[in-house]
Amino acid sequence: MNTLTQLHADIEARVRAIRNDNPDWLCRMGCDGCCRRLAEVPRLTAAEWALLQDGLAALPPERLREVGRGIATLAEQPSRPIVCPLLDRSAGACLVYAHRPVACRTYGFYVQRDLGLYCKDIESRVAGGALTGVVWGNQDAVDRRLCALGDTRDLTEWFALWKEGGDMA
Ligand code: SF4
Repeated sequence: MNTLTQLHADIEARVRAIRNDNPDWLCRMGCDGCCRRLAEVPRLTAAEWALLQDGLAALPPERLREVGRGIATLAEQPSRPIVCPLLDRSAGACLVYAHRPVACRTYGFYVQRDLGLYCKDIESRVAGGALTGVVWGNQDAVDRRLCALGDTRDLTEWFALWKEGGDMA
């Protein structure tokens, strides 16, 4: 079975195993380093967007309007890196943590053959000789499973389609 729910469960099992062996692991709720320096606008499959949309729809209307303004700004912003428009900057927390995309769940725990680690803080620890016993998750395998979960579009595009459909608060 390859559903988003199953993929989340498989990811969480690897995350839990790494955390159990490394209780002071950097990547956790409250660490917003990656959310503040995204290399690109997040891309989501249809299944990820459907989940994220549920999270966005549950936000208070004014908060959702703020998110919409942030996403609209992002669509026009050529400079990189970017701050994720779903980050509550003052709290340093994701507004839709339970509904966040797969990339946000794997970021600190999974590596991609050829591309190395993603989190620069964790990468520098590895370069310093730490975390040698970690059994990393396989990002290539996650990406293959994601391919089967529907069209992939930028967050800005999914949001604009939702807005056009008039299905927003
Ligand atoms: S969706 Fe949430 S967890 Fe992912 S980068 Fe944005 S704020 Fe961070």
